[in-house]
Amino acid sequence: MRISYQYKIKPTKEQAEKIDKTLEMLRCQYNYLLAQRFDWYEQNRCPVDRCPLICYLPELKDQPNYYNQKASLTQLKIDRPWYKEIHSQVLQEVPKKVEITFERWLKGDINGKKSGRPRFKSQGQYKTFTYPQFKREHFANNKIKLSRIGDVKVIVHRQIPDGFYIKAVSITRKADGYYVTLSLDDKRVPTIKPDFDVDNIVGIDVGLIDFYVASDGSRTKAPKYLRKAERKLKSAQRKVSRRTKGSNRRKKAIQKLGKRHKKVADTRKDFHFKTAKSLLDKYDVIAVEKLNIKGLSKTRLAKSINDAGWGQFVTILSNKAANAGLKVIAVNPNDTSQECSSCGQKLKKPLSQRMHNCPVCHGSLCRDLNAAINIKNRGAQGLKAQTMSSLRSL
Ligand SMILES: [Zn+2]
Repeated sequence: MRISYQYKIKPTKEQAEKIDKTLEMLRCQYNYLLAQRFDWYEQNRCPVDRCPLICYLPELKDQPNYYNQKASLTQLKIDRPWYKEIHSQVLQEVPKKVEITFERWLKGDINGKKSGRPRFKSQGQYKTFTYPQFKREHFANNKIKLSRIGDVKVIVHRQIPDGFYIKAVSITRKADGYYVTLSLDDKRVPTIKPDFDVDNIVGIDVGLIDFYVASDGSRTKAPKYLRKAERKLKSAQRKVSRRTKGSNRRKKAIQKLGKRHKKVADTRKDFHFKTAKSLLDKYDVIAVEKLNIKGLSKTRLAKSINDAGWGQFVTILSNKAANAGLKVIAVNPNDTSQECSSCGQKLKKPLSQRMHNCPVCHGSLCRDLNAAINIKNRGAQGLKAQTMSSLRSL
């Protein structure tokens, strides 16, 4: 996960001068590289609709791109030795910046949105430079070590969260002073655990009475304290509707209802975290039904009490799994309760029928368990297909 933290810095007079000088030199270089690109573009573009039949083509120069512009910096430091005062990686960020603005103008960004023609920057308009690599130990004791600038004092108003490392550092000049922006990355990159076992899989189905029924036959009910909180919420709701609109007693009841709502939400979330943990302690892969909010079937509607919390639970479960290097796989929910989990025969049955009795293979089991086993099997197949396609793409 990438985040960024910005702190105000207090450079000495000398350090501030160095920052200003760096920005000014980078600005000149930026304008120069931009001019080089415009120059080539003006000389060589030849729109089809405007091209005369006899077209005089000027001698084609190499088109300036990120790589040859970056390579030109070596010559720049020979011709203008004062550019050696800038850290080389900081200087290399300039052709990158030019490349990005130019590409955005010609091709648009990843969403296809085009920006305007890049502009030359006038004095004071170039405001940021970046160190693309940074050593963690260079930020300590409220000081940051900036190569070619010095140890600069930082006002640390909040600490860097645990588990993050500093990926890049930018210095920005603003109206009220100088700032440092740290790009932080979480080093706990979610990779698959080395002893990840694809066969250690369980399928879970939202139950009518239970919170879920698992393919291993276990059932998890919503805990008593949650059901109690939900009952209290309902009675608070009734109280509000009984009281006269606009009355003080109604206002008070509404306040209480708000508190009850929060209590239920907190309690439910806590239960979801605990349940996710216990599942991931036991299994490496959890298969769930893909939530289909639009096409709620009759059976789904009947389960809507649990569905309210199900989406949140699946989100919590997925995040927890990703952090632990485990997996949650969402499967096609069609007919999971109708299909026979041992022979595949489809058997329509009303919701009131709690057992699945197969006329073909004569298997007999609880309908929720039958559904959970189907979910598990679909999850195992889906996972196999994913592994195969990722192997093919290697
Ligand atoms: Zn069967």
